[in-house]
Amino acid sequence: MVLYKWKKLDKILFLGTAGGRASTFRLLRRSGGFLLNLSGRWIHVDPGPGAFVYLHQMDFDPRDLDLVVLSHVHLDHSADVNSILESATDGGRRYHTALLAPRSVFEGEDRILLPYLRKRLAYEAFFEEGKIAEYMDVKVKAVMKHRHHDAETYALLFNDRILYVTCALFEERMLEVYPKNVDIMIINTTLYSKRTYIEHLCVDDAIKLINGLKPKRAILTHFGYEFLKHHDPQEVAKRVSFITQVETIAAFDGMEVYFH
Ligand SMILES: [Zn+2]
Ligand SMILES: [Zn+2]
Repeated sequence: MVLYKWKKLDKILFLGTAGGRASTFRLLRRSGGFLLNLSGRWIHVDPGPGAFVYLHQMDFDPRDLDLVVLSHVHLDHSADVNSILESATDGGRRYHTALLAPRSVFEGEDRILLPYLRKRLAYEAFFEEGKIAEYMDVKVKAVMKHRHHDAETYALLFNDRILYVTCALFEERMLEVYPKNVDIMIINTTLYSKRTYIEHLCVDDAIKLINGLKPKRAILTHFGYEFLKHHDPQEVAKRVSFITQVETIAAFDGMEVYFH
């Protein structure tokens, strides 16, 4: 692996593409969230289990991370956040990393951030629906609070370009509140078909979002156990592209996507 690849700008790199408990913790695929390079800044979104090791294996220096962003506290999104922050801040020697996340990441019974690491953050912001958090040249808007098994969870819009639709129960309100025609819409499509009582998005929900909001490109990721056991995400993405007429791809572990 060569280091120059980390100099390139405006890209998304998927460390892992598993979603939900069974798929993540039986390691059907890797987890670890994704890296985003925007405005020359490195952002790590949802550093789930393994993220710390995967970064090092790819020769990515975590000290280059300026922002860490969490959509919610569930372990498949957050397990490595403390290790990532410890390495991004070089054990407290570098003071430049921000953490943008729901308040429940920092405070309360289910908080997952170690209190001593909080002191090492150069900046912190709590998401609230409709509010924008900004650090360096990166703007993250919490466009909508999701319904997702009682976890405080938000859909996030990065620099008005990349919409990250994290885990959620589909609601029609998404079609009113989310922005239209974004450059890339990343959709956590954990379920193949809808399942009662499970507050995750399925393929039909992704189709509704893509049809209603017409992003320039869509990426499906965060695949659950049943999805991966019985379906091929690449074939599903082809079908979604055909139905929506929006270029849709299925993410795989290590996939890189460039945009301008
Ligand atoms: Zn979750
Ligand atoms: Zn999830």
